[in-house]
Formats: sequence, structure tokens, C-alpha cells
Amino acid sequence: MDIKRLNAKIAVSPQIKAEDMVAIARAGYRSVICNRPEGEEQSQPATATIEAAAKSAGLRFVHIPAISGALTEQNGRDMAQAIANLPGPVLAYCRSGARSAKLAEMAAIINTQAGGQTIYDFVIVGGGSAGIATAASILKRNSEVSIAIIEPSEAHYYQPGWTMVGAGVFDRDFTVRSEAALIPKGAEWIKASVSGFEPNENQVVLCDGNRVAYRVLIACPGIKLDWAAIPGLTEALGKNGVTSNYDFDLAPYTNRLVKEFTGGRALFTQPPMPIKCAGAPQKSMYLSCSRWEKAGKLGAIDVQFHTAGAVLFGVAAYVPALMEYVKRYNAHLNFESKLIGIDGASKTAVFEQKRSGETKTVEERYDMIHVVPPQVAPDFVRSSPLAAASGFIEVNEGTLQHTRYANVFALGDACSASNAKTMAAARKQAPVVAVNSLAALEGKPPVADYDGYGSCPLTVEAGKIVLAEFGYGGKLLPSFPNWLIDGTRPSRLSWLLKDTILPPIYWHGMLKGHEWMVKPHPIGS
Ligand SMILES: Cc1cc2nc3c(=O)[nH]c(=O)nc-3n(C[C@H](O)[C@H](O)[C@H](O)COP(=O)(O)OP(=O)(O)OC[C@H]3O[C@@H](n4cnc5c(N)ncnc54)[C@H](O)[C@@H]3O)c2cc1C
Repeated sequence: MDIKRLNAKIAVSPQIKAEDMVAIARAGYRSVICNRPEGEEQSQPATATIEAAAKSAGLRFVHIPAISGALTEQNGRDMAQAIANLPGPVLAYCRSGARSAKLAEMAAIINTQAGGQTIYDFVIVGGGSAGIATAASILKRNSEVSIAIIEPSEAHYYQPGWTMVGAGVFDRDFTVRSEAALIPKGAEWIKASVSGFEPNENQVVLCDGNRVAYRVLIACPGIKLDWAAIPGLTEALGKNGVTSNYDFDLAPYTNRLVKEFTGGRALFTQPPMPIKCAGAPQKSMYLSCSRWEKAGKLGAIDVQFHTAGAVLFGVAAYVPALMEYVKRYNAHLNFESKLIGIDGASKTAVFEQKRSGETKTVEERYDMIHVVPPQVAPDFVRSSPLAAASGFIEVNEGTLQHTRYANVFALGDACSASNAKTMAAARKQAPVVAVNSLAALEGKPPVADYDGYGSCPLTVEAGKIVLAEFGYGGKLLPSFPNWLIDGTRPSRLSWLLKDTILPPIYWHGMLKGHEWMVKPHPIGS
């Protein structure tokens, strides 16, 4: 086959044969356009034969017959519409390929005059945990739809692994892969940042001012880590004992600090909710203490946990097990104590504390401090018509459909649902959004609902985890029978899950559309 690629969306070739279709599909093409009138030449295969072969190879097929040397404006318009709407890349063919190339040129002019817009069946904003999983789940159900994933980053992170990096269990590189390798086959990656939503026009605005149009929008750009909200923090990070597992580059510094720490004051902070993985601030404390205990250094270390919240963990059932470790490590709990400033040079942290109905400011000296930054909805989400009062994307908690725009869905950390913001939640939400958004594409109402499941594996010591799994309202939703894993007690099996089983489930299951233990739940069943 003599295929000539004209641009990212379209390629042209001379006459193809039915038996070429499998190779064309394998080469990544998703649609075929025939530009030859039926029976133009005696040796020409019947269009119906080519169409049947294309379909059996999983390709979309459109016939736009055009007469060589007499191309009409209507031919150009039909071609423009097909190229805009078919899943790409598209292969157009005629006798020599020249007619298809001319038609593609006419189509490009028409599409540019019309705003140059391809209308995708689905536009997914954010190619993180939620975005890739949802794209994969949609394509598992219908490989013919067109999907664009808008994601600026070339790196994709397995963030739950960063707690383990900070504890010296995982190597940092174990938690990162190239985004390009994870974009599901059949989805198109637009490497760009979104700066705004225009839901009334069914389009999103990119940072360069271009617009991308959709039939259904799935928004999952994550949560913003607001490091700058704490004066002095940005400058202090990564040196003089100031660290955070909430950053790929800093998590190895936590490991180094903890390993080399011989005594003194160690502070661990937790900002106001919501944050992603509400347990991560204390996980870092427990794992540090566990190492110091093993190294016989714990007695020389004053461990202080400062949380802006009024309780150790939001779901009461897990607190007794956590308190056993707080006592064992002799960690001091400071409730309603919010980090508001840091001076890296003098190793001083400033906290705003609520005490007996009064708010006071307290300065604490430290030798090392693990900071979890305040977290808010991304600015472009907060200022958009999709935002709820909280700034996050306003969705129905069950269907994850937007409350005002029926063709908009949101999931993951960026949505307003009150579940624990975790990768585990995104894993359960993605199949729900996949089936509901496919229904929306056909103008139908949602068919599945989400129970608020989220999970937080609280790493209480090296080798043991309290596996918190719960849904809306703090309802316990254990995945395993109690005899196997009692989530309210520290368990070695839960550690095995986090340490060994969950990472491959993430890369090879969740991101590939395998919905193990997270099949979408039909509404009303
Ligand atoms: C230290 C730490 C420990 C954690 N531990 C656990 C755990 O043990 N268990 C668990 O289940 N979860 C854990 N989590 C939480 C989990 O990682 C997140 O909840 C999950 O990644 C959320 O997925 P998401 O797709 O919503 O967001 P993300 O995975 O953060 O993806 C958002 C994507 O959107 C992109 N984006 C941002 N802005 C734009 C824009 N303007 N335009 C386009 N794209 C944009 C980003 O580049 C990113 O790729 C942890 C997180 C951290 C930081």
C-alpha cells in the first residue's frame, strides 16, 4: 500500500483491497473514505466489499464518490464533514490517491473557514488517573467513537506510590510513565492546557486560544496544590529539612531526611479538607516513626502532628487502630492547628490554632517538617460556568453528570462529589462515567450510579496497613470479607496489596479499561 500521510488526521492512498483492511487498522487508522464512484473501472473492487472488510476490521467507512477532473463544492463539503466527524486518523482512497488528496485540501479550507473545528464525540480534560481510565472504559464499550484527551504533561504519575517513595520502599521512577504510552489506542492526545470551559457552545478553550469542540465533555483535571498559599513555603521546600510527599521531586528528599534524622523535632502537617488522599499526611508520620523505631532513634525524636481538622480521621471506625500507633510512637496530636507560614532559614513554622473558642498564632521550631499543601479547585475550573460554590465541578453525586449541563460529566479530584478524593475513587467512578457519557452521546439519561467509594490505605508501620474503605456518609464499604482483611485493624495482607498488587492493577488494569471489582452499578438495582 502506498499511503501518504497529509496531516495528523488524514492520509491518502491509491485503490486498496479488501484484504488490506486488517493492516490498515493495525497501522492505527480508524476510518476509511472511498472517493471513487462505483464501477469507475472494471478491475475496481465493489464498494460494498471494501465496506464490509473495513467494518470487520473495526474501521468506520464512508463513501463520498467524486468524479476525477470534475470535483464539486458538494464533494468538498461532504469530505469536510466526514473528516471533522470520523474518528481519526482517516485513510481516503481513490484510483491514484490524487483525487482524495485534492478533496482533503478542499475539506481543510472549508473546515478552516468554518472555524477549523473537529467535533469529537468525547473531549476528556486531564489525562491523569481518572481521564485515562475513563477513555479506556469508553473505548472498551465502543471503539468507533472519537475521543480527544487534552493533557499538557508528558509524564503520568502513580501518586499513591509517593508515600512509599518517601518511606524508601519504592524508587521514584517506579511511579512515573510516559503519557504517550498510556493514551489508549483509538484516543487522540492533544498536548495542551485547557484555560476555560464554554459549555453553552460545547467547547473548551486551550491556553493558546484555540477551541476544541465536543458532543460530550468529561472533565477531570485534578486538584490544585496551593503551595503559594503558605508564605515562605515555596522558597523553603527541598532544603533545610522541609519536605513533602505531595511532589514527585520532593518525596525522595523525605526518604533521605528520615533516614539521616538522628534526633530533634519532627513536624507533620495536614491542611483543611478537601485534600487528595486525606490519610497521606499521617501516613508519612507513621512510616517515619516506624523507621526511627526500628533504628532505635524514636526516643530521641519529638513527633508532632498538626492538623487543621478536629479529628484524626474522618471515619470514626478507623480511629482506634490509628490511636494505638499514635501512642506507640509517642506522637503528639495538635488538632485545629493550621500551618500558615514557614521560615526555612530559622526552621520555624507558624500555626493558627483554635483554642477554647479563640484563634491564636503559635511559632514552632523544627528540625524536619513534612508539609501537605492546602488544596483547591484549579483556577480555570473555579472561574468557569461548571463550578459549584466550592469551586469544584458541580456534579450529581450518583451519576457524576453535571447538574446544569446534561452532556458534561466530571470525576476524580476535580469534581464536587463528597467522596474521599483518591485514585481508588476514580477507579470506581471511571466505569460509571463511561456508561453514563455513552448514554448521553445518544441523548439518553444516565444508567449507572456511584456509591461514593474511596479508599485510603493507612500505612501505620512498614509492613502493615489499616485499609480504610468507605463511601458516602462514611459508610464502610470493604472489598474483602472480614476474615481476610478487617479494614479497621492493621494488616499485612493490606500492605501486600499496596506494595505489590495495586501498582500493576493501576498500570495494566485501571488504565487499560479492565474494570476488576468496579463494574458500573445500574441505577435502581
Ligand atoms: C502523596 C499522595 C498519596 C496518595 N495516596 C493515595 C492512595 O494511597 N490511594 C489512593 O487511592 N489515592 C491516593 N492518592 C490520591 C490520588 O493520586 C488522586 O486522587 C488521583 O490521582 C486523582 O486522579 P485525577 O485524575 O482526578 O487527578 P490526577 O491524577 O492528578 O490527574 C489530573 C490530570 O489533569 C491534568 N491537568 C491539570 N490541569 C490541566 C489543564 N488545565 N488542562 C488539561 N489537563 C490538566 C494534570 O496534568 C494531570 O495529568 C495520593 C495522592 C498523593 C499526592
